Amino acid sequence: MTSEPADLASRAAETHVVVIGGGIGGLIAARECAKVGMRVTVLDAADAVGGAIRRAELDGVVVDAGAESFATRGGHVRALLAELGLTGRIVAPAAGGAWVAGLPGGDAAPLPVGGILGIPANPFQEDVRRVIGWSGAWRAYLDRVRPPLTIGHNHSLGRLVSARMGVKVRDRLVAPVTTGVYSAAPEDVDVDIAAPGLNAALTSVGSLSGAVQRLRDENAGRAAKAPGAAVEGLDGGMTVLVDALVADLTGLGAEVRTSTRVTEVARHEQGWQVTARIAGDADAAPAEDAPADSVSPDAASEDAEDVVLSADAVIVAVDESTARHLLSTAVPALAATAAADAPEIEIVTLLLDAPELDAAPRGTGVLTVPGSHTAKALTHSSAKWGWVRDAANGRHVVRVSFGAQGESAATSTLSDDDAAGLALAEASALLGVDLPSARLVASHRSRFVQSQPASIIGSRERRAAARAAVQTEPGLAAVGAWLAGTGLAQVIPDATTEADRLRRALLWD
Ligand SMILES: Cc1cc2nc3c(=O)[nH]c(=O)nc-3n(C[C@H](O)[C@H](O)[C@H](O)COP(=O)(O)OP(=O)(O)OC[C@H]3O[C@@H](n4cnc5c(N)ncnc54)[C@H](O)[C@@H]3O)c2cc1C
Repeated sequence: MTSEPADLASRAAETHVVVIGGGIGGLIAARECAKVGMRVTVLDAADAVGGAIRRAELDGVVVDAGAESFATRGGHVRALLAELGLTGRIVAPAAGGAWVAGLPGGDAAPLPVGGILGIPANPFQEDVRRVIGWSGAWRAYLDRVRPPLTIGHNHSLGRLVSARMGVKVRDRLVAPVTTGVYSAAPEDVDVDIAAPGLNAALTSVGSLSGAVQRLRDENAGRAAKAPGAAVEGLDGGMTVLVDALVADLTGLGAEVRTSTRVTEVARHEQGWQVTARIAGDADAAPAEDAPADSVSPDAASEDAEDVVLSADAVIVAVDESTARHLLSTAVPALAATAAADAPEIEIVTLLLDAPELDAAPRGTGVLTVPGSHTAKALTHSSAKWGWVRDAANGRHVVRVSFGAQGESAATSTLSDDDAAGLALAEASALLGVDLPSARLVASHRSRFVQSQPASIIGSRERRAAARAAVQTEPGLAAVGAWLAGTGLAQVIPDATTEADRLRRALLWD
């Protein structure tokens, strides 16, 4: 059907879209709808939007508590930042590089340069040998003389690496990267998604290390574009992006409501009915002109109240288990597959008055050999980002992460003080310097449910099935990391595309 521009404008203005979840996926999708004049309401359960992008304040120093950077691949995040006038705030991390800790004897060493996902192109390279030792290097070298096709095509990164180059390469070089970047064991990572082209190069070159070298030569800089490698940040933190999106949305007439947890999504006549509970202490009491059809006191709590919104379309932008729960009636096909295991992780951020860290003893941070330490990884933020160093004003900011796939965070049952104490002890061990409690100025703790990474074996099929099920329902879309893959570089373009699909269907079909 063709429509006149005036028809489209009035149709857009009459279309109410409710976006459930104000993480980056929800905010992007909301903006795409608001841009064409639709009436948009964003509801988020937390007391601030941003989801995994959130701030920590330590003794007046404001830093990122969650996502702290974005992958440059694809150019999508940069393009968004340019649209929002934030290009001037883009910053690069320091060149220092990270270390790997938990080597035999409690040793630590710089992460070797020049590999792909930790797989070295040359096992005898000095920095590689420092991590895997002579015996590991000779075992890895067997890869060069083994026939390439005896093991066939291997999807599991861990199995491929251990078969070709031995367990020392897998455990000390690859596992710290996959655990630190994807929160996943190498065994579970699909090599074709995490390192596209590597298997094909192995078949034609004849060895895995040769394949790594081939990929790097063929596509100069490609390894540097692997997840976690080529990243940028924002002066002031990634929450600057969230603030800019909220300001833009508000300017476009959208309403953004926090402390409002959606409890039910149901089909209603031609559209949808969204039920949400507004937290008691929220200052977000419904305004008189709010698009609420009814507001009733909640029986269970004197302070909380339920609100029911009517919508022509709904965009679900929450984590996977919440999305499946909310859509269980409207999209029964979603129930065919269970939610993937989502690692629960905690990040404890420490502000330290510790001059012994001025020399950045472990570069920009540390990844650990799984099982060697309680912490999974550490970021020395004030060594990695110039703006954090300036904000800390002579002190240091260190982030310690706990928890990974199949392993709950060691801090999860601790009080805030005990979690800070454990993080300080781990920081001391990982940075190789004594950090007594007197060095601790302030701490901040944040809990996250991390979506299953897109590179987990079987993830692609699961995501495609979920998306197909959602897309069969008119006026419904779902966005976010559980469908797009983890990371802003994945979530942002995916949410843009999915919101575009929805608005086209609403306005043109
Ligand atoms: C600790 C950590 C560090 C990371 N670091 C980086 C990084 O440096 N670079 C990078 O690119 N990526 C990073 N990531 C990944 C990236 O942050 C995420 O992939 C992305 O932010 C996810 O966005 P999302 O919109 O899918 O979900 P989320 O950010 O999780 O947002 C979901 C939102 O839904 C809301 N919600 C949940 N249930 C309800 C409900 N019932 N009703 C209403 N609202 C609800 C939540 O409050 C939340 O705001 C990191 C992730 C974590 C956890």
